[in-house]
Amino acid sequence: MEIVRTNVKHMISGVMWKTVSEACNLACDYCYYSRCNGRPDNIKRIEDDVLEKFIREYMALKKRVVPFAWQGGEPLLAGIDFFKKVVQLQATYAPNNTVISNSIQTNGTLIDKEWATFFKKYNFLVGVSLDGPEEINDAKRITGSGKGSFKSIMKGIQYLRDANVDFNILTVLHEGNILKAKELMNFYKDESFSYVQFIPCMDFQSQDPSQPGKYLITPQQYGDFLCEAFDIWYNNGVPEISVRFFDNMLAIYLHQQAEACIHQKTCPKNIVFEQNGDAYPCDFFIDEQYKLGNIKHDSLESIINNERMDQFLARKPSLPTQCESCEFLHLCHGGCPRNRISENNEIGVEYFCESFKRVYRYAHERMLELATTIKRCKVTEVKEAGNQLPGRNENCLCGSGKKFKKCCDPLLRSI
Ligand code: SF4
Ligand code: SF4
Repeated sequence: MEIVRTNVKHMISGVMWKTVSEACNLACDYCYYSRCNGRPDNIKRIEDDVLEKFIREYMALKKRVVPFAWQGGEPLLAGIDFFKKVVQLQATYAPNNTVISNSIQTNGTLIDKEWATFFKKYNFLVGVSLDGPEEINDAKRITGSGKGSFKSIMKGIQYLRDANVDFNILTVLHEGNILKAKELMNFYKDESFSYVQFIPCMDFQSQDPSQPGKYLITPQQYGDFLCEAFDIWYNNGVPEISVRFFDNMLAIYLHQQAEACIHQKTCPKNIVFEQNGDAYPCDFFIDEQYKLGNIKHDSLESIINNERMDQFLARKPSLPTQCESCEFLHLCHGGCPRNRISENNEIGVEYFCESFKRVYRYAHERMLELATTIKRCKVTEVKEAGNQLPGRNENCLCGSGKKFKKCCDPLLRSI
């Protein structure tokens, strides 16, 4: 059945499913979500009819580019047959010329040759959680019996490498690695990890979204970490590793948008689904007051149109006064609304404000230099390819909004 697209108030950017609810085969000591202590017995997958209803409605609504994100607990516990069903349903319901993308966030320990071959065949982007070298990782990312997970994760990564699967590394920052930026960055370099992102670890007790978020690291520690990591990332103007925070910052220097939600102007219109079909606008707002419906009995269209989505989306642009006059607003956009909740559930300033300001100031000159080099290369390429350059008084091709003569034209002359 075709759903009438015009009835949808917000077209969503993407969806994320908590594939197996909280089931996980690790018992990381900072995990706020899983309570099975690394011993999942009764694994609940998304039910077949719910999965099919969702994919059918999502394909009918979204069209053309349709992204899916799969998380857990540990999503691989759903089993490979579950994901074979996913790709088969996607193929069944995708209209012609649809681009389907699947990403999955895993602890990596269950990846074997079969999984890696599957990921390659269906072009999954795999995020692997790894907190650094063995000693650092194994202090927190452990099995139910307390054994470190590093060796199993690296084995899983080797299967991904052998099968040529695209993967990235997600490192949770906590008190055990926040003072070790250099060690982490050198480890990624030694392992030739090309794509890395850092996530500050939230205290698991702070999941009530009406209360301020609590973190295991201080804003000062995070700021220092980012500055130290930046020095290594910058690599004398030739970055070798993609670090999400710095890539996002550089994008803004190049007049593009940050792709990480916390540094965009508004929160993206995503839906997060719990394994039972409950729908929420963000992983940080999993709470009854933000519930948008349940895909088992509500249509995707009604979930997207729920007025709570409007209320959620209104949060990010409601900036505290400090942000409104901040010199870094164009880079930061006030951070994440989850981190702006103060004691009395009012809008405060982002918990990591000080960290962001510190790294923005610290990195500015070098970011500017890097962006200038990239722009110079681009404008030179356009010229050398014999393509038409803008007139001196026309808008510059780099997207700055300035006249060409005041922007990239002088870069051509400075070669
Ligand atoms: S609330 Fe924060 S984490 Fe959630 S979408 Fe908005 S910026 Fe992203
Ligand atoms: S750096 Fe701080 S004050 Fe500036 S926009 Fe970000 S959160 Fe607001």
